[in-house]
Amino acid sequence: MLTGINRIGDLEWEVPIGYVPGMRVPGRFFLSPLLAETLEEGAVRQLANVATLPGIVKNSLAMPDIHWGYGFPIGGVAAFDMTEGVISPGGVGFDINCGVRLITTPLTEADLAKKKRDLIERLFNAVPTGVGAKSTLRVSNKDLSAILADGAGWAVERGLGTGADLVRCEEEGAMPGADPDAVSAKARQRGIPQLGTLGAGNHFLELQVVKEVPDPEAARTFGVHEGQICFMVHCGSRGLGHQVATDYLRTIEGALARYGIHLPDRQLACAPIDSPEARAYFGAMASAANYAWANRQVIMHEVRKVFSQVFGIEYDEMRLIYDVAHNVAKFERHDIGGTATEVCVHRKGATRAFGPGAPGIPREYAAVGQPVIIPGSMGTSSYLLHGTTTAMEKTWGSTCHGAGRVLSRSKAKKEVRGRELREQLAGEGIVVRAHSDAALAEEAPEVYKPSGEVVRVVHEAGLSDIVARLGPLGVIKG
Ligand code: 5GP
Ligand code: MN
Ligand code: MN
Repeated sequence: MLTGINRIGDLEWEVPIGYVPGMRVPGRFFLSPLLAETLEEGAVRQLANVATLPGIVKNSLAMPDIHWGYGFPIGGVAAFDMTEGVISPGGVGFDINCGVRLITTPLTEADLAKKKRDLIERLFNAVPTGVGAKSTLRVSNKDLSAILADGAGWAVERGLGTGADLVRCEEEGAMPGADPDAVSAKARQRGIPQLGTLGAGNHFLELQVVKEVPDPEAARTFGVHEGQICFMVHCGSRGLGHQVATDYLRTIEGALARYGIHLPDRQLACAPIDSPEARAYFGAMASAANYAWANRQVIMHEVRKVFSQVFGIEYDEMRLIYDVAHNVAKFERHDIGGTATEVCVHRKGATRAFGPGAPGIPREYAAVGQPVIIPGSMGTSSYLLHGTTTAMEKTWGSTCHGAGRVLSRSKAKKEVRGRELREQLAGEGIVVRAHSDAALAEEAPEVYKPSGEVVRVVHEAGLSDIVARLGPLGVIKG
């Protein structure tokens, strides 16, 4: 482990005040000794830098998928006081409301039989992928305003889903506080042609089978069982969200001097929560988050249509378990010294993991806690977990968002051959479809930490409980 860091529990570490100058609170992160070997000093420094921000409450936190990000580490969580605190676009990330949804099917592996390749091919054709992917929907400027305000609800109103889908999304698929007028013309221009598209790189569609169910009771509540075929969607707010982040980083950086904010790293640019700059950013960020929910809803609609065609199953036999956001800032009430207090929680590459009885989770899941969806990689397991009371106490109700990258894209390109990887995965029964083999190299299983170990840490640290383990059968990469 790096020097200057204290181990305070089996899986818990503290970055003491003084690790970097100006820290207001200690940093804290969750990691096993095995994962500690992959820990980047730069990411720990970023965690410590976040602890210097005005109004940070309790700790600057990081989950075991911690790695270097823009300003804030990915896997980072930080809550800010409503009067002294700040909002920081770097604490949300460029892909606003990147997130994951998981749907079930009535199928088993035997039903796929010889249809798997055809299924993956049809899905690849049904959902536009790649950097410049264009939507098959015609979205007008007026539609876009409605999407930014209503999120997934906009899609459901047009028949691209069911009312039950909305209940099973974080924020019911539309964050309050969206202000479409705060979204620039340039961001809108980027958003109009991209609704319902997957994007590139890390985003994926994945056919999975439930391999193991360590928590059968919670699994029953969520509607999953061993041997069941499921489907996972991972994407975010596309160019629109990226443009919102870019626009507001510039405005907020320009306002730093006005608010007398001194930063160890300009990438941490932030503004007081009630400042005009922060309010505008929040309104635009919530709009981009809503765009992302609409985007995942439209994609899931296409996926359901393809499954119906290929297997002759009904649309609503493919039940959405849940949709989680893993790049977002939100106003939430949390217990601070016995008092429910409103704070602004930033989760950047972190998943909300609200426990049993917490507000804002679907009534049908209230006794268990919210579903938490953690993707692994195209060659390793992904997980369904549930939120916990311990997460509410220790991490503002948060857990990890994935396995977390260990190898940069440029290193991966040098070390991994895309074609060999595709053939190797095929040998394991995993069909991978992408625009190019070269793009696959950057997303090889070995560029990520071992998902099983990362999830073991959050499970054993009590931040979320494993409900089911899912293995990949077919993957579509942008
Ligand atoms: P991010 O949102 O940070 O780009 O990615 C979230 C997580 O998704 C990564 O940390 C990684 O563990 C996981 N992931 C990336 N590609 C794939 C994939 O093709 N399939 C699955 N199941 N997970 C992936
Ligand atoms: Mn993501
Ligand atoms: Mn449990």
